[in-house]
Amino acid sequence: MKIIKVLILLFISNYAFSQTKKVCFTIDDLPVVNYGNNGQDFHLKLTEKLLTGLNQKGIKAIGFVNEGKMYDKDGEIIPFQKECLEMWLKVGMDLGNHTLRHHDFNNTDFNLYTSQIISGEKQTKMLLNKYRKDLKFFRHPFLHVGATKERADSLAIFLENNKYTVAPVTIDNEDYIFASAYAKTLNKGDLDLAKKIGEEYIKYMEAKVLFYEKQSDAMFGRQIAQTLLIHASQLNADYIIKLAEMFEKNGYEFVGLETALSDKAYETPITKFGRYGISWIDRWALSQGKKGDFFKGDPETPNFVVDLSK
Ligand SMILES: [Zn+2]
Repeated sequence: MKIIKVLILLFISNYAFSQTKKVCFTIDDLPVVNYGNNGQDFHLKLTEKLLTGLNQKGIKAIGFVNEGKMYDKDGEIIPFQKECLEMWLKVGMDLGNHTLRHHDFNNTDFNLYTSQIISGEKQTKMLLNKYRKDLKFFRHPFLHVGATKERADSLAIFLENNKYTVAPVTIDNEDYIFASAYAKTLNKGDLDLAKKIGEEYIKYMEAKVLFYEKQSDAMFGRQIAQTLLIHASQLNADYIIKLAEMFEKNGYEFVGLETALSDKAYETPITKFGRYGISWIDRWALSQGKKGDFFKGDPETPNFVVDLSK
């Protein structure tokens, strides 16, 4: 009897331990990454499918908006684009700012860049207020935070003065290459190949998760709360449940961005800057002088996917 009790206790404690990993889903380039399909039906259905999947898995995600996509050439709001955004809030998701038209801080004048942050917050702010929420988070397009300390500091001060919290990314990946390949393959009507891309995508994302777990362990000696970046694409709408199940299989629970950022790891100073758009774990590692070997083993996107994406 005693042995059985010990075994049960061991099982419970192992189970509890394996459940402590946390991940926050952050989804960029809202309302939708459409790969040239401007149809209303396409946008609404994609959004509906993505949100239904997130809800089904109990994920409180945050979507980062490029409001420039919501205006027509005369500067008028396109109603279905606004409807897509509102769908996120209706089901209890959060929204953040991703600049008006996905400006690249590496190649944009400071004053222009910051003006595009402000003009990119109007619709999102109004919608959030309607749902009694505040606009809090900012995500840098291309994860370009400033190539030098001076540029990065200036932007950080601007964001702080405008009450923004930066939304870092730890699980960085090339979901957008898979998504482009997937969209092009679907357009050609090749459903078998599209399915193959989708299956490869989940395998690749699992390899990425395991890679960043290894990085987390090497940096902090534990599993930090991870922040995943993916995009509002058809691929993710179609595979969001499989993606969530992959995380569950690896012992993750889903948390909101505020909970993830309350992990002390996110207080790690960043003192090295460059033109790169990389995981925050790599920024922290570079800042602590980590070299060569530390960054080895980052999974690559399969060649056939890269070729299909072009
Ligand atoms: Zn983006």
